[in-house]
Amino acid sequence: MLEQRTLSIIKPDATSRNLVGAINSRFEQAGLRIIAQKRLQLTKSQAEKFYEVHRGKAFYNSLCEYMASAPIVVQVLCGEDAVAENRKIMGSTNPANAEVGTIRRDFGQSIEHNSVHGSDSLENAEIEISFFFSQLEIVE
Ligand code: ATP
Ligand code: MG
Repeated sequence: MLEQRTLSIIKPDATSRNLVGAINSRFEQAGLRIIAQKRLQLTKSQAEKFYEVHRGKAFYNSLCEYMASAPIVVQVLCGEDAVAENRKIMGSTNPANAEVGTIRRDFGQSIEHNSVHGSDSLENAEIEISFFFSQLEIVE
């Protein structure tokens, strides 16, 4: 399996509960390396742009307001099969359905406040990484 890069976001519910280190150790324990990372707060319109694929869905407005409500930590994770591996570590979208031991089951509060985002394909990973990072900020 080839090395991949994927975009990860530690969401407002997790940064506000001081869970950045706990979540990062889940990635590192699983063998994913954090090769870029920064803390920032999105504006509502930046959140709308990032979640453009969900425009029109019932949860879109609430999701974008939530993602702009407090700081987030955005990061590039690198490792073997990183896109799928990260989705596995995160668990199902709804924490109530996620397996025990996944980030969303252990830290998530609701389907919206589910602590982390991870790219869902290699193609989207590239798009999402370039949304947040320049080449200079990614250091292997
Ligand atoms: P993410 O894209 O954040 O990694 P995901 O791919 O598991 O999560 P998506 O279907 O892409 O899930 O939804 C994006 C985000 O929108 C979810 O992580 C969650 O925060 C929110 N969301 C999804 N479905 C709902 C819903 N039914 N009600 C409220 N919020 C939702
Ligand atoms: Mg998604």
